[in-house]
Amino acid sequence: KGKGKKQAKAATKDVKQAAVLGAGIMGGGIAYQAAVKGMPVVMKDIAQPALDLGLGEASKILAKGMQRGKVDAKKMAMTLNNITPSLEYSSIKQSDLIIEAVVENPKVKGIVLKETEETVADDAIICSNTSTISINSLAESLDKPERFCGMHFFNPVHRMPLVEIIRGEKTSEDTINAVVAATLRMGKTPIVVNDCPGFLVNRVLFPYFAGFSKLVLDGADFAAVDKVMEKIFGWPMGPAYLLDVVGMDTADHASGVMADGIPERMQKIDNDPVTVLYGSERLGQKNGKGFYNFG
Ligand code: NAD
Repeated sequence: KGKGKKQAKAATKDVKQAAVLGAGIMGGGIAYQAAVKGMPVVMKDIAQPALDLGLGEASKILAKGMQRGKVDAKKMAMTLNNITPSLEYSSIKQSDLIIEAVVENPKVKGIVLKETEETVADDAIICSNTSTISINSLAESLDKPERFCGMHFFNPVHRMPLVEIIRGEKTSEDTINAVVAATLRMGKTPIVVNDCPGFLVNRVLFPYFAGFSKLVLDGADFAAVDKVMEKIFGWPMGPAYLLDVVGMDTADHASGVMADGIPERMQKIDNDPVTVLYGSERLGQKNGKGFYNFG
């Protein structure tokens, strides 16, 4: 009985200090989201310009909030004060929730996760924000895989409500409960899913993108498809526009992983419009040109 009580307490223990590894699009967004909800967070990267970008992103979101009257000077100061940028591992020693958001490369992630485990306390929880790498395979780089799971935010983090919490084969129930509690504290909606290619959202989304690509290859006009899906069917945006938001590099990589993982549901085609656009450096919104041109 007593043990159960202790476990329940551990499972809901409040995060005192989070850490985000990688201050890119996602790391910057996750650090902002923790900070704006009052959770102190260390944002660690390997390069000062990356940290500057991450902090700049947080300031931009806050400035927009101020313009709309949703953020006041006090909230802006509190949020920025809650983010501690750093280039040193020693800065995450006290962190009890670590969210890895470095480049989507299994080798780099494996090294970063191992270095993290060597730095933090034994009961700290470690998560990965990977979109496509198996949580079970990443867990192999850790001595204590039971304290590890996926914590998959969506881009842009401050606007997308969902966080997928991915349970690896060795993830403990306490870890899942603590990450669910942290997600709620960050103002997001958690769902717990098992480890599989694409988890839940990308497992639905990428076969949809593949269907769209096939339509375009069969002669459909991408803008006409978007118009149907958006204006008539009623979705917030059509597939071509959504691919411009996701980015052709990210989409091309992820669709390859998904096609390998669920070949019965989608195939990777060589002249896929996403691959062709990526090849001609039309990456989408991030470089101003994709299916559409952005001013
Ligand atoms: P990004 O390229 O914008 O940022 C990656 C950051 O990691 C860079 O700032 C880089 O300097 C840093 N980095 C590299 N090696 C490091 C190390 N050893 N230690 C600390 N920092 C290091 O990438 P991103 O788009 O933010 O993606 C990060 C992760 O989030 C990836 O796993 C990606 O799959 C996932 N993800 C991305 C999206 C998206 O739409 N971009 C959405 C959900 C999840």
